[in-house]
Amino acid sequence: MDLVVATTNKGKLAEIAHVLKGLPVRLIPLSDLSNPPQVVEDETTFEGNARKKAREIARWSGKATLADDSGLVVPALGGRPGVYSARYAGPEATDEDNRKKLLDEMKEVPWEGRDARFVCCLVVVFPTGQEWVIEDICEGKIAIEPRGDQGFGYDPLLWIPSLQKTMAELPIEEKNLVSHRGKALRKLLKILECAIRKPSGRSSAW
Ligand code: IMP
Repeated sequence: MDLVVATTNKGKLAEIAHVLKGLPVRLIPLSDLSNPPQVVEDETTFEGNARKKAREIARWSGKATLADDSGLVVPALGGRPGVYSARYAGPEATDEDNRKKLLDEMKEVPWEGRDARFVCCLVVVFPTGQEWVIEDICEGKIAIEPRGDQGFGYDPLLWIPSLQKTMAELPIEEKNLVSHRGKALRKLLKILECAIRKPSGRSSAW
């Protein structure tokens, strides 16, 4: 089975490939397709954006498509950066720009108020039109300063109390065990296993 992964984020792709590696599924990153449509992420929820990306790319490619919309929610900042996590410091912002802005906004916030969570919403759209939505979270705290050089995005700033480490101090297999995306992907794994075993209503695109 082919599964288009509607993202160009290499960090997300690596984590998705790591969890799904045992499945007889060929993952096709967006970068392997020629001239895919540019999907505008203008919804106000992770689910809205993930659904929009999955539906548009599935319609265009004719193949089963997985989209991930995710981000960091910080209650002390009224939920920001939230769905704007990727472009928090501006449309062309790098991960480092975004981390700097977040740390700056959090500089007066004491440790007790630094709770935060990563949210991941996965939407998979099958050629039959069937859709699945999966959401999961990973709770932690915003570190005082960045630590670690693995992962991507805000990983150096999300400190996991139970591990006494930031996400960026975890190798991919350990990050996937505790992360929002890892947890959501393990639920997706079960859905894909069922779809492979019983592809009812299967179309020629499979
Ligand atoms: P999206 O492409 O709109 O889903 O952007 C997600 C953004 O949220 C990324 O660019 C990161 O800044 C952030 N993000 C999502 N998941 C993670 C993660 O697992 N670690 C660190 N940052 C993440």
